[in-house]
Amino acid sequence: MADSRYDVVVIGTGPGGYVCAIRAAQLGLKTAVVEKDKTFGGTCLNVGCIPSKAMLHASELFEEAGHAFPKMGIKVGKPTLDLGAMMKFKDEAVDGNVKGVDFLLKKNKVDAVRGVGRIVGPGRIEVKGDGKTQTLETKGIVIATGSEVTQLKGIDIDEKRIVSSTGALVLGKVPEKLLVVGAGVIGLELGSVWRRLGAQVTVVEFLDRIVPGIDLDVAKSFQRLLERQGIAFKLSSKVTAVDNSGKRLKASVEPAAGGKAETVEADVVLVAVGRVPFTEGLGLEEAGVKKDNRGRVIVDAHFATNVPGIYAIGDVIAGPMLAHKAEDEGVAVAEILAGQAGHVNYDVIPNVIYTYPELASVGKSEEELEQAGVAYNAGKFPFTANGRAKANQQTEGFVKILADAKTDRVLGVHILGADAGNMIAEAAVAMEFGAAAEDIARTCHAHPTLPEAVKEAALAVGKRAIHM
Ligand SMILES: Cc1cc2nc3c(=O)[nH]c(=O)nc-3n(C[C@H](O)[C@H](O)[C@H](O)COP(=O)(O)OP(=O)(O)OC[C@H]3O[C@@H](n4cnc5c(N)ncnc54)[C@H](O)[C@@H]3O)c2cc1C
Repeated sequence: MADSRYDVVVIGTGPGGYVCAIRAAQLGLKTAVVEKDKTFGGTCLNVGCIPSKAMLHASELFEEAGHAFPKMGIKVGKPTLDLGAMMKFKDEAVDGNVKGVDFLLKKNKVDAVRGVGRIVGPGRIEVKGDGKTQTLETKGIVIATGSEVTQLKGIDIDEKRIVSSTGALVLGKVPEKLLVVGAGVIGLELGSVWRRLGAQVTVVEFLDRIVPGIDLDVAKSFQRLLERQGIAFKLSSKVTAVDNSGKRLKASVEPAAGGKAETVEADVVLVAVGRVPFTEGLGLEEAGVKKDNRGRVIVDAHFATNVPGIYAIGDVIAGPMLAHKAEDEGVAVAEILAGQAGHVNYDVIPNVIYTYPELASVGKSEEELEQAGVAYNAGKFPFTANGRAKANQQTEGFVKILADAKTDRVLGVHILGADAGNMIAEAAVAMEFGAAAEDIARTCHAHPTLPEAVKEAALAVGKRAIHM
């Protein structure tokens, strides 16, 4: 039975919550977590990052086995899909990860309390679960309750034919036609999975571009590559209704500015228009915790809400809805609660889209720099000129580095290419250390590797790339 007096109680065990709890325990704070779901790990481990990456990995290999293997001299015949086995592979990935969190919480002596947590007074959390109610007393409360799927007016998600990302990760068969609403990260990742497995995929996007927020030049190249793979895009368009009365779904698609609707038929519609903070049942109104007009808990630079002793981190506060951002905030708030100087550098949060090729970026886009009136030099290097990419026949994409025109300090790095998600780490480290493009250019990179393209792009900032 858990002791009910704590230094810190964290509500939610997603990447923000469980990491915060572990760090707090490491620092000697008596810590508990409260979790309403059956397994730890939140959105990320159960229905987000981990299962989607398992499906992306498996479906990429399925496609490679069909297309890339023969030209490498590997004859395996036409691959056939055992979707059940692929789903099992994905479920094992989830299982291994959520069990890992369970192990880490125990190892760090964090008490795990099962049930729905509700703040009932200063330093008091009531937890209802398994038919019982208990009250935890604590000096500090960290809200890490994450986010939930954004619903679209007029489209009822049933998680069978009209699905969110959660339903799209458990489809029982490959849809012949998949209509994806929203050309953001989740729509493109899961759209890629089902296209590789045989679906005809159409993506409808309200804006006149895909992946909003990403450097436009990179986004345009990315769109062309996805189109070449067979994904169709309807930009500047909106889905206003989905008729589910027949055997096939009938979606009404209109120009974003309004106008004549067309009907697009689909077997499955994936609604992927973003996520909203989740604070239902937490008792925030009664506790007087302020939220902004988008429902996000308002915090100061130390993750403190307006109510003393209550903090918040992760998807439930402002900023990019990313697992590693939530984790870093978890560490920072734990350190602050332990009297240390926890801090998150929001200028250096990498963002990765795990399609093929991958799209990874960190720092500013060209549009952001232009808008801020910052003079910059851009260095670009294509993977067609990188030895390893040529050897692997994975030459799509490029690296682009944006550096301050006066100081040469790296302000943004954008990589479109195979393994971009791993390569962006180098850029993040360089930026965290305040590196100049010259520093990356003078760093010896192993040959033949894809990251040599990062070095060449840094050289290109000074107009002296070697292999171009
Ligand atoms: C399909 C998909 C793919 C994604 N892929 C990536 C990716 O590749 N990389 C990446 O960085 N991000 C990815 N994300 C985003 C990532 O999952 C989130 O940014 C991350 O999970 C946020 O972490 P969090 O700790 O703030 O909240 P969450 O992970 O949402 O966890 C919140 C937890 O709080 C619990 N909870 C809520 N209210 C209560 C309560 N009152 N009492 C008790 N428990 C409660 C919930 O049950 C949940 O376990 C993806 C998301 C989706 C949907």
